[in-house]
Amino acid sequence: SAPFDANLIKKDFPILRETVNGKPLVWFDNAATTQKPQSVIDRIAYFYEHENSNIHRAAHELAARASDAYEAAREKVKTFLNASSVNEIVFVRGATEGINLVACTWGDQNLNSGDEIIVSNLEHHANIVPWKRLADKKGLKLRVIPVDDDGQILLDEYAKLLNSKTRLVAFTQVSNALGTVTPAKQIVEMAHAAGAKVLIDGAQSVSHMKVDVQNLNPDFLVFSGHKLFGPTGIGALYGKEDLLNEMQPYQSGGNMIQDVTFEEIKYHKAPNRFEAGTGNIADAIGLGAAIDYVTKLGIENIGQYEHQLLEYATKLLKEIPGVRLIGTAANKASVLSFNLQGYSNDHVGQALNKEGVAVRTGHHCAQPILRRMGVETTVRPSLAFYNTTQDVDTFIQTLWELKKVRF
Ligand code: PMP
Repeated sequence: SAPFDANLIKKDFPILRETVNGKPLVWFDNAATTQKPQSVIDRIAYFYEHENSNIHRAAHELAARASDAYEAAREKVKTFLNASSVNEIVFVRGATEGINLVACTWGDQNLNSGDEIIVSNLEHHANIVPWKRLADKKGLKLRVIPVDDDGQILLDEYAKLLNSKTRLVAFTQVSNALGTVTPAKQIVEMAHAAGAKVLIDGAQSVSHMKVDVQNLNPDFLVFSGHKLFGPTGIGALYGKEDLLNEMQPYQSGGNMIQDVTFEEIKYHKAPNRFEAGTGNIADAIGLGAAIDYVTKLGIENIGQYEHQLLEYATKLLKEIPGVRLIGTAANKASVLSFNLQGYSNDHVGQALNKEGVAVRTGHHCAQPILRRMGVETTVRPSLAFYNTTQDVDTFIQTLWELKKVRF
């Protein structure tokens, strides 16, 4: 196959032609959100120009176009995740809404006082807060898989946490704060062996590696479209079909019912049961276009290229005196969290912004793992396939210049 040409791919993303402070934009904030290829932008515009309608298929021509495009997008998500059926794909606002949906429906229905939920120390707040709230409400015990000093899951410690009271293990496949890739398949197998259900937070993984739900075998998996080169406000919850159909609705109203009387309400089966009201039709279709784009590049090619770029950046970053890399797992994706001794993270972030380099500084909505690593905040460049070695060089050069000014 043709070599992966990030310089060429970059041209598909109009925003990457922006300048910031007179410098070409270097977008290194991909873990927060990704940029959108022209094909995604065009697809959303096409929807509003040619297809816009609510999705009640039989009513008229545009309703049929909108319904078909929306359901085609669901099919694309299904294929992308290798789910067994489109009935396993629920459109939600994003990873956060997907996790809240599971906590408020499955969790509320099935968990009782004394039951235990396991999360990992690596989790984003989105995969902590809904479980902590549920635990407080129902008297559940929330247990935490510890990590080693490199930010890697300690499987032996995890094994000790599992017991007959464990009902759910909820964990991230890639840490947004450190970039750690967790041994997802093993974590799922161990949870199932203990009789627990599993939710995988795929927010940071689906854009970097092949995520196959039939191979990984979680009961639930969530991700956000905006981190996968698609629009904001749309994402997906994957759930095993039987499980979804046993769950009570999350929100209720139109679209999710089969029949309503004042005496009794019959719900649709999944996924419609969880899609009350008018959904984010245009952006679901936009997400479908993003999946097409990623699929055309090939997720394995993407992962391979990004891995090389991450190694290149890591090597150069470590050569700068005073850099402390936070998160040094053997298996990492995309993220380089660090502190620069003698400089506040804000100062580093501003110096980079001056040169057009966008990075996130802060706690990255993952305070427990940063505290475990002994810091409150980091500077966090995060890479995507449209980043080039030249982008990395600009970033590294700026850090060297920053040090020169000081000394
Ligand atoms: N989980 C992880 C690992 C994340 O990185 C994020 C976003 N930073 C989320 C969940 C939440 O995603 P969203 O804000 O799109 O719902």
